[in-house]
Amino acid sequence: MSSSVIDFVATEARFGAHNYEPIGVVLSRGEGVWVWDTEGNRYLDCLSAYSAVSQGHCHPKILAAMVEQAHRLTLTSRAFHNDQLALFYEEIAALTGSHKVLPMNSGAEAVESAIKSVRKWGYEVKGVPDGQAEIIVCANNFHGRTLGIVGFSTDPETRTHFGPFAPGFKIIPFGDATALEEAITPNTVAFLVEPIQGEAGVIIPPAGYFMKVRELCTANNVMLVLDEIQTGLGRTGKLLAEQHEGIEADVTLLGKALSGGFYPVSAVLSNNDVLGTLRPGQHGSTFGGNPLACAVARTAMRVLVEEGMIENAARQGARFLQGLKDIRANTIREVRGRGLMLAVELHPEAGRARRYCEALQGKGILAKDTHEHTIRIAPPLVITSDQVDWALERFAATLTQDFS
Ligand SMILES: *Cc1c(COP(=O)(O)O)cnc(C)c1O
Repeated sequence: MSSSVIDFVATEARFGAHNYEPIGVVLSRGEGVWVWDTEGNRYLDCLSAYSAVSQGHCHPKILAAMVEQAHRLTLTSRAFHNDQLALFYEEIAALTGSHKVLPMNSGAEAVESAIKSVRKWGYEVKGVPDGQAEIIVCANNFHGRTLGIVGFSTDPETRTHFGPFAPGFKIIPFGDATALEEAITPNTVAFLVEPIQGEAGVIIPPAGYFMKVRELCTANNVMLVLDEIQTGLGRTGKLLAEQHEGIEADVTLLGKALSGGFYPVSAVLSNNDVLGTLRPGQHGSTFGGNPLACAVARTAMRVLVEEGMIENAARQGARFLQGLKDIRANTIREVRGRGLMLAVELHPEAGRARRYCEALQGKGILAKDTHEHTIRIAPPLVITSDQVDWALERFAATLTQDFS
């Protein structure tokens, strides 16, 4: 490592809270699927900032929209109207078929906002006694890092010594519709779930699960809240992952790729009166719905559709998945994926996934381990067939090594 790399890493370690354990690469530039480190080495980005950079690094049209808007007006707060918010509403509603939109910034804020909204809906529309609302969530969920959210996580690492936590959440196994049926009570206001559990290691539920979930929620007047912050906006080869299941959520959460990685932009979308229960002064955010965020998100959504990125995610995802399945290596326990949301789960005896990610780095690929034994693969949706094949050669070479 050159001295400049050591400087960046050491300085981060010296001053920063150690709440991450980054792979030892210092990035300074990105374009499309590629990123470059401070020494000029090029890598294919197979993380895409946890799927926030789906449109590719520094997409020229999103960049132009951001710069143009930054010259004109960046922040007004919602105390005044701005000339971008209405257009953002119109375009995101048209894209997703939603009726109401609540703009926020981070994904966790969208989740928190949805929790507040469905509770309020439960009290004011469903008629749940005040203070009794229950929300059902799944084991191994990942919905963000705020206190409210980590309180219903089942991962000891994210919870330990952060309590006490808010009550009102029930945890059931993911992919088990019977467990949902048994957990619902008259006080249940919502079922909050990821279509595919991302951080848990790209866990795809059994076919037909969400159909049954939709039926149960409808039958019991329970709001189905789909956290599509990672799966949404083309990542799985459809605009929304719910489309694979042929269902519609009552509340959909988007974030990450909503800005193409330029800026934190998230949104709560609803098809009913959930967001309608919010009155002036009851919820808000200084930056939520600001004109810069809206201009960036409008263009990020536009290029996703105009440049065929969703279809490309389906096409290249199928190619990538098949290529990974064709790798004959006894380190591999299972290969999973839908669209460009992919994972290779290693046999525990093969050693930690982290070692494989470090080996991939040496071959020009940046990927991130999750939960000890899983390598997640989520390149930008603009990846080409040649780039997929280039990556597959390197995955094959790495996965046939043994780091145990
Ligand atoms: C990343 C993520 C979040 C949290 O988003 P932040 O912007 O990091 O707060 C919530 N839900 C899911 C499914 C995610 O992948």
